[in-house]
Amino acid sequence: KAKREGKNTYYFYQPSLSESATRRYTLETDLKSAIQNGQMSLYYQPKVCAKNSVIMSAEALLRWHHPSLGFISPCEFIPIAEQTGQIIAIGNWVIKEASMQALKWQQVAHFERIAVNVSAIQLAQDDFIEQTLATLNETGCPPSLIEIEQTESALMDKMQENIQVLSALKQAGFTLSLDDFGTAYSSLSQLSQLPIDVLKIDKSFVDNCATCERAHMVVKTIIQLANNLGMHTIAEGVETQAQLDVLNSEGCYMYQGYYFAKPLPQNEFEQVLESQSLVRVGTH
Ligand code: C2E
Ligand code: MG
Ligand code: MG
Ligand code: MG
Repeated sequence: KAKREGKNTYYFYQPSLSESATRRYTLETDLKSAIQNGQMSLYYQPKVCAKNSVIMSAEALLRWHHPSLGFISPCEFIPIAEQTGQIIAIGNWVIKEASMQALKWQQVAHFERIAVNVSAIQLAQDDFIEQTLATLNETGCPPSLIEIEQTESALMDKMQENIQVLSALKQAGFTLSLDDFGTAYSSLSQLSQLPIDVLKIDKSFVDNCATCERAHMVVKTIIQLANNLGMHTIAEGVETQAQLDVLNSEGCYMYQGYYFAKPLPQNEFEQVLESQSLVRVGTH
Protein backbone atom coordinates (compact mmCIF):
# COMPACT_ATOMS: atom_id res chain seq x y z
CA LYS A 1 0.00 0.00 0.00
CA ALA A 2 1.25 3.49 -0.76
CA LYS A 3 0.64 6.36 1.59
CA ARG A 4 0.95 9.80 0.02
CA GLU A 5 1.71 12.88 2.08
CA GLY A 6 2.86 15.83 -0.04
CA LYS A 7 6.09 14.94 -1.71
CA ASN A 8 6.86 12.08 0.56
CA THR A 9 5.61 8.75 -0.61
CA TYR A 10 6.07 5.80 1.68
CA TYR A 11 5.74 2.32 0.35
CA PHE A 12 5.11 -0.36 2.90
CA TYR A 13 6.19 -3.66 1.46
CA GLN A 14 3.67 -6.28 2.34
CA PRO A 15 4.64 -9.68 1.03
CA SER A 16 1.38 -11.03 2.43
CA LEU A 17 -0.64 -8.87 0.06
CA SER A 18 0.28 -10.76 -3.11
CA GLU A 19 0.23 -14.03 -1.21
CA SER A 20 -3.27 -13.42 0.02
CA ALA A 21 -4.39 -12.29 -3.44
CA THR A 22 -3.05 -15.53 -4.87
CA ARG A 23 -4.72 -17.58 -2.16
CA ARG A 24 -7.99 -15.77 -2.72
CA TYR A 25 -7.77 -16.42 -6.49
CA THR A 26 -6.97 -20.09 -5.90
CA LEU A 27 -9.87 -20.53 -3.48
CA GLU A 28 -12.29 -18.74 -5.77
CA THR A 29 -11.27 -20.90 -8.73
CA ASP A 30 -11.20 -24.21 -6.86
CA LEU A 31 -14.48 -23.52 -5.09
CA LYS A 32 -16.24 -23.97 -8.45
CA SER A 33 -15.43 -27.67 -8.56
CA ALA A 34 -15.14 -28.41 -4.84
CA ILE A 35 -18.53 -30.09 -4.56
CA GLN A 36 -18.13 -32.18 -7.73
CA ASN A 37 -14.67 -33.24 -6.52
CA GLY A 38 -16.07 -34.44 -3.22
CA GLN A 39 -14.07 -31.94 -1.16
CA MET A 40 -17.07 -30.56 0.72
CA SER A 41 -18.65 -32.26 3.68
CA LEU A 42 -21.02 -31.42 6.48
CA TYR A 43 -20.05 -31.79 10.10
CA TYR A 44 -22.76 -31.95 12.73
CA GLN A 45 -22.71 -30.37 16.17
CA PRO A 46 -25.26 -31.58 18.74
CA LYS A 47 -27.80 -29.21 20.23
CA VAL A 48 -28.84 -30.63 23.55
CA CYS A 49 -31.83 -30.21 25.82
CA ALA A 50 -30.99 -28.19 28.94
CA LYS A 51 -33.08 -30.48 31.14
CA ASN A 52 -31.53 -33.86 30.33
CA SER A 53 -28.70 -33.32 27.81
CA VAL A 54 -30.53 -35.39 25.21
CA ILE A 55 -29.61 -34.51 21.59
CA MET A 56 -32.62 -32.73 20.09
CA SER A 57 -31.03 -31.45 16.92
CA ALA A 58 -27.75 -30.72 15.18
CA GLU A 59 -26.24 -27.78 13.36
CA ALA A 60 -24.77 -28.70 9.98
CA LEU A 61 -21.43 -26.92 9.49
CA LEU A 62 -19.74 -26.91 6.12
CA ARG A 63 -16.16 -28.18 5.78
CA TRP A 64 -13.85 -27.85 2.78
CA HIS A 65 -10.81 -30.06 2.49
CA HIS A 66 -8.70 -28.45 -0.22
CA PRO A 67 -6.32 -30.92 -1.94
CA SER A 68 -3.19 -28.77 -1.50
CA LEU A 69 -4.15 -26.08 1.04
CA GLY A 70 -5.79 -28.46 3.50
CA PHE A 71 -8.72 -27.52 5.68
CA ILE A 72 -10.24 -24.12 4.83
CA SER A 73 -12.45 -22.45 7.41
CA PRO A 74 -16.00 -21.53 6.35
CA CYS A 75 -15.19 -18.08 7.75
CA GLU A 76 -12.77 -17.77 4.83
CA PHE A 77 -14.59 -19.47 1.94
CA ILE A 78 -18.24 -18.57 2.67
CA PRO A 79 -17.61 -14.83 2.07
CA ILE A 80 -15.87 -15.70 -1.21
CA ALA A 81 -18.80 -17.92 -2.21
CA GLU A 82 -21.16 -15.06 -1.35
CA GLN A 83 -19.22 -12.52 -3.40
CA THR A 84 -19.06 -14.80 -6.46
CA GLY A 85 -22.62 -16.11 -6.23
CA GLN A 86 -21.38 -19.67 -5.73
CA ILE A 87 -23.17 -19.69 -2.38
CA ILE A 88 -26.41 -20.47 -4.23
CA ALA A 89 -25.18 -23.83 -5.56
CA ILE A 90 -23.27 -24.58 -2.35
CA GLY A 91 -26.24 -23.65 -0.17
CA ASN A 92 -28.48 -25.93 -2.18
CA TRP A 93 -26.06 -28.79 -1.76
CA VAL A 94 -25.98 -28.17 2.00
CA ILE A 95 -29.77 -28.31 2.22
CA LYS A 96 -29.90 -31.49 0.15
CA GLU A 97 -27.25 -33.26 2.25
CA ALA A 98 -28.78 -32.10 5.53
CA SER A 99 -32.26 -33.16 4.48
CA MET A 100 -31.11 -36.69 3.67
CA GLN A 101 -29.51 -36.99 7.10
CA ALA A 102 -32.51 -35.45 8.84
CA LEU A 103 -34.78 -38.02 7.26
CA LYS A 104 -32.58 -40.79 8.58
CA TRP A 105 -31.89 -39.40 12.05
CA GLN A 106 -35.48 -38.40 12.82
CA GLN A 107 -35.99 -42.08 13.56
CA VAL A 108 -33.77 -41.76 16.62
CA ALA A 109 -35.75 -40.95 19.77
CA HIS A 110 -35.82 -37.26 20.76
CA PHE A 111 -34.08 -36.12 17.57
CA GLU A 112 -36.17 -33.46 15.88
CA ARG A 113 -34.30 -31.67 13.12
CA ILE A 114 -31.11 -30.44 11.47
CA ALA A 115 -30.23 -26.76 11.36
CA VAL A 116 -28.53 -25.28 8.29
CA ASN A 117 -26.92 -21.87 7.99
CA VAL A 118 -28.48 -19.85 5.21
CA SER A 119 -26.71 -16.81 3.86
CA ALA A 120 -28.49 -13.50 3.30
CA ILE A 121 -27.63 -13.84 -0.41
CA GLN A 122 -29.57 -17.10 -0.58
CA LEU A 123 -32.54 -15.64 1.27
CA ALA A 124 -32.63 -12.68 -1.12
CA GLN A 125 -33.13 -14.91 -4.19
CA ASP A 126 -36.67 -14.61 -5.51
CA ASP A 127 -36.95 -18.36 -5.86
CA PHE A 128 -35.29 -19.34 -2.58
CA ILE A 129 -38.38 -20.96 -1.07
CA GLU A 130 -39.39 -22.60 -4.33
CA GLN A 131 -35.88 -23.94 -4.87
CA THR A 132 -35.54 -25.17 -1.29
CA LEU A 133 -38.90 -26.93 -1.36
CA ALA A 134 -37.94 -28.53 -4.70
CA THR A 135 -34.72 -29.82 -3.14
CA LEU A 136 -36.59 -31.23 -0.15
CA ASN A 137 -39.07 -32.79 -2.53
CA GLU A 138 -36.24 -34.69 -4.19
CA THR A 139 -35.09 -36.19 -0.91
CA GLY A 140 -38.56 -36.63 0.54
CA CYS A 141 -37.74 -34.59 3.63
CA PRO A 142 -40.54 -32.44 5.11
CA PRO A 143 -39.65 -28.82 6.05
CA SER A 144 -40.47 -29.64 9.67
CA LEU A 145 -37.17 -31.56 9.86
CA ILE A 146 -35.16 -28.50 8.80
CA GLU A 147 -34.23 -25.44 10.82
CA ILE A 148 -32.94 -22.35 9.07
CA GLU A 149 -30.32 -20.28 10.89
CA GLN A 150 -30.02 -16.65 9.85
CA THR A 151 -27.62 -14.25 11.47
CA GLU A 152 -29.12 -11.22 13.11
CA SER A 153 -26.74 -8.93 11.19
CA ALA A 154 -27.70 -10.43 7.81
CA LEU A 155 -31.40 -9.98 8.49
CA MET A 156 -31.01 -6.36 9.51
CA ASP A 157 -30.07 -5.26 6.02
CA LYS A 158 -33.42 -5.61 4.32
CA MET A 159 -35.68 -6.11 7.28
CA GLN A 160 -39.06 -5.66 5.60
CA GLU A 161 -38.26 -8.02 2.71
CA ASN A 162 -36.75 -10.54 5.10
CA ILE A 163 -39.80 -10.53 7.35
CA GLN A 164 -41.85 -11.59 4.31
CA VAL A 165 -39.52 -14.40 3.28
CA LEU A 166 -39.22 -15.69 6.84
CA SER A 167 -42.98 -15.64 7.26
CA ALA A 168 -43.37 -17.70 4.09
CA LEU A 169 -40.71 -20.15 5.29
CA LYS A 170 -42.44 -20.46 8.64
CA GLN A 171 -45.73 -21.00 6.83
CA ALA A 172 -44.10 -23.78 4.82
CA GLY A 173 -43.15 -25.55 8.06
CA PHE A 174 -39.50 -24.66 8.64
CA THR A 175 -38.16 -23.82 12.09
CA LEU A 176 -36.37 -20.46 12.15
CA SER A 177 -33.56 -19.34 14.38
CA LEU A 178 -31.67 -16.11 14.79
CA ASP A 179 -27.91 -16.80 14.89
CA ASP A 180 -25.34 -14.78 16.85
CA PHE A 181 -28.15 -12.93 18.61
CA GLY A 182 -27.18 -9.84 20.53
CA THR A 183 -24.41 -8.71 18.20
CA ALA A 184 -26.32 -6.68 15.64
CA TYR A 185 -28.60 -4.37 17.59
CA SER A 186 -31.89 -5.23 15.92
CA SER A 187 -34.58 -3.08 17.44
CA LEU A 188 -37.18 -4.61 19.72
CA SER A 189 -39.84 -3.56 17.24
CA GLN A 190 -38.06 -5.44 14.46
CA LEU A 191 -37.46 -8.45 16.65
CA SER A 192 -41.10 -8.66 17.64
CA GLN A 193 -42.12 -8.69 13.96
CA LEU A 194 -39.84 -11.58 13.05
CA PRO A 195 -41.50 -15.01 13.00
CA ILE A 196 -38.50 -16.53 14.78
CA ASP A 197 -38.71 -19.71 16.88
CA VAL A 198 -35.30 -19.67 18.53
CA LEU A 199 -32.78 -17.02 19.62
CA LYS A 200 -29.20 -18.26 19.55
CA ILE A 201 -27.39 -16.38 22.31
CA ASP A 202 -24.08 -15.29 20.82
CA LYS A 203 -20.95 -17.02 22.06
CA SER A 204 -19.43 -13.71 23.17
CA PHE A 205 -22.02 -13.42 25.97
CA VAL A 206 -21.78 -17.10 26.86
CA ASP A 207 -17.97 -16.82 27.06
CA ASN A 208 -18.14 -14.25 29.84
CA CYS A 209 -21.39 -15.11 31.58
CA ALA A 210 -19.69 -16.92 34.47
CA THR A 211 -16.95 -14.36 35.03
CA CYS A 212 -18.60 -11.04 34.27
CA GLU A 213 -21.79 -9.94 35.98
CA ARG A 214 -22.78 -7.68 33.10
CA ALA A 215 -22.48 -10.52 30.57
CA HIS A 216 -24.55 -12.64 32.95
CA MET A 217 -27.23 -9.91 33.00
CA VAL A 218 -27.25 -9.73 29.18
CA VAL A 219 -27.77 -13.49 28.97
CA LYS A 220 -30.51 -13.32 31.60
CA THR A 221 -32.23 -10.48 29.73
CA ILE A 222 -32.07 -12.28 26.36
CA ILE A 223 -33.63 -15.40 27.89
CA GLN A 224 -36.43 -13.35 29.49
CA LEU A 225 -37.02 -11.45 26.25
CA ALA A 226 -37.23 -14.69 24.27
CA ASN A 227 -39.64 -16.20 26.80
CA ASN A 228 -41.83 -13.10 26.68
CA LEU A 229 -41.93 -13.23 22.88
CA GLY A 230 -42.71 -16.96 22.89
CA MET A 231 -39.32 -17.97 21.52
CA HIS A 232 -36.89 -20.62 22.69
CA THR A 233 -33.25 -19.94 23.52
CA ILE A 234 -30.07 -21.81 22.77
CA ALA A 235 -26.65 -20.82 24.07
CA GLU A 236 -23.89 -21.23 21.48
CA GLY A 237 -20.27 -21.97 22.28
CA VAL A 238 -20.77 -23.40 25.76
CA GLU A 239 -17.37 -24.58 26.95
CA THR A 240 -17.40 -24.84 30.74
CA GLN A 241 -19.45 -26.18 33.63
CA ALA A 242 -19.45 -22.70 35.17
CA GLN A 243 -21.13 -21.24 32.06
CA LEU A 244 -23.61 -24.10 32.11
CA ASP A 245 -24.49 -23.38 35.76
CA VAL A 246 -25.27 -19.74 34.98
CA LEU A 247 -27.31 -20.63 31.88
CA ASN A 248 -29.22 -23.28 33.82
CA SER A 249 -30.03 -20.86 36.59
CA GLU A 250 -31.49 -18.46 34.03
CA GLY A 251 -33.61 -21.11 32.33
CA CYS A 252 -31.88 -21.46 28.95
CA TYR A 253 -33.69 -24.06 26.82
CA MET A 254 -30.87 -25.71 24.83
CA TYR A 255 -27.09 -25.81 24.63
CA GLN A 256 -24.51 -26.19 21.92
CA GLY A 257 -20.76 -26.07 22.38
CA TYR A 258 -17.49 -27.90 22.85
CA TYR A 259 -18.46 -28.73 26.44
CA PHE A 260 -20.90 -31.26 24.96
CA ALA A 261 -19.32 -31.99 21.59
CA LYS A 262 -17.45 -30.32 18.79
CA PRO A 263 -18.84 -30.53 15.23
CA LEU A 264 -18.46 -34.18 14.15
CA PRO A 265 -18.23 -35.95 10.80
CA GLN A 266 -21.50 -37.61 9.83
CA ASN A 267 -20.54 -41.15 10.92
CA GLU A 268 -19.18 -40.00 14.29
CA PHE A 269 -22.26 -37.89 14.94
CA GLU A 270 -24.40 -40.89 14.14
CA GLN A 271 -22.59 -43.02 16.71
CA VAL A 272 -22.96 -40.35 19.36
CA LEU A 273 -26.62 -39.86 18.50
CA GLU A 274 -27.45 -43.56 18.61
CA SER A 275 -25.65 -44.18 21.88
CA GLN A 276 -26.39 -40.69 23.30
CA SER A 277 -22.82 -40.70 24.55
CA LEU A 278 -21.72 -37.12 24.32
CA VAL A 279 -18.04 -36.57 23.78
CA ARG A 280 -17.65 -34.15 26.67
CA VAL A 281 -14.53 -32.39 25.59
CA GLY A 282 -13.27 -29.29 27.29
CA THR A 283 -10.88 -27.74 24.82
CA HIS A 284 -10.56 -27.63 21.06
P1 C2E B 1 -22.11 -20.11 13.23
O1 C2E B 1 -23.30 -20.50 12.43
O2 C2E B 1 -22.32 -19.11 14.30
O3 C2E B 1 -21.54 -21.48 13.82
C1 C2E B 1 -20.93 -21.60 15.06
C2 C2E B 1 -19.42 -21.70 14.94
O4 C2E B 1 -18.87 -21.81 16.26
C3 C2E B 1 -18.92 -22.94 14.20
O5 C2E B 1 -17.70 -22.58 13.55
C4 C2E B 1 -18.66 -23.94 15.33
O6 C2E B 1 -17.74 -24.93 14.98
C5 C2E B 1 -18.12 -23.00 16.38
N1 C2E B 1 -18.33 -23.50 17.75
C6 C2E B 1 -19.34 -24.26 18.23
N2 C2E B 1 -19.19 -24.49 19.55
C7 C2E B 1 -18.05 -23.86 19.92
C8 C2E B 1 -17.36 -23.74 21.17
O7 C2E B 1 -17.77 -24.24 22.22
N3 C2E B 1 -16.20 -23.00 21.16
C9 C2E B 1 -15.72 -22.42 20.03
N4 C2E B 1 -14.57 -21.74 20.11
N5 C2E B 1 -16.35 -22.52 18.84
C10 C2E B 1 -17.51 -23.24 18.78
P2 C2E B 1 -17.42 -23.00 12.03
O8 C2E B 1 -17.91 -24.38 11.78
O9 C2E B 1 -16.00 -22.68 11.75
O10 C2E B 1 -18.35 -22.01 11.21
C11 C2E B 1 -18.14 -20.63 11.22
C12 C2E B 1 -19.26 -19.90 10.54
O11 C2E B 1 -19.29 -20.22 9.14
C13 C2E B 1 -20.65 -20.26 11.06
O12 C2E B 1 -20.94 -19.56 12.26
C14 C2E B 1 -21.51 -19.84 9.89
O13 C2E B 1 -21.76 -18.45 9.94
C15 C2E B 1 -20.61 -20.12 8.70
N6 C2E B 1 -21.03 -21.39 8.06
C16 C2E B 1 -20.68 -22.66 8.37
N7 C2E B 1 -21.31 -23.55 7.55
C17 C2E B 1 -22.08 -22.81 6.71
C18 C2E B 1 -22.98 -23.13 5.64
O14 C2E B 1 -23.25 -24.32 5.30
N8 C2E B 1 -23.59 -22.09 4.98
C19 C2E B 1 -23.36 -20.78 5.34
N9 C2E B 1 -24.01 -19.80 4.66
N10 C2E B 1 -22.54 -20.44 6.37
C20 C2E B 1 -21.90 -21.44 7.04
MG1 MG C 1 -25.16 -21.10 12.84
MG1 MG D 1 -23.71 -18.70 15.65
MG1 MG E 1 -21.13 -17.33 15.10
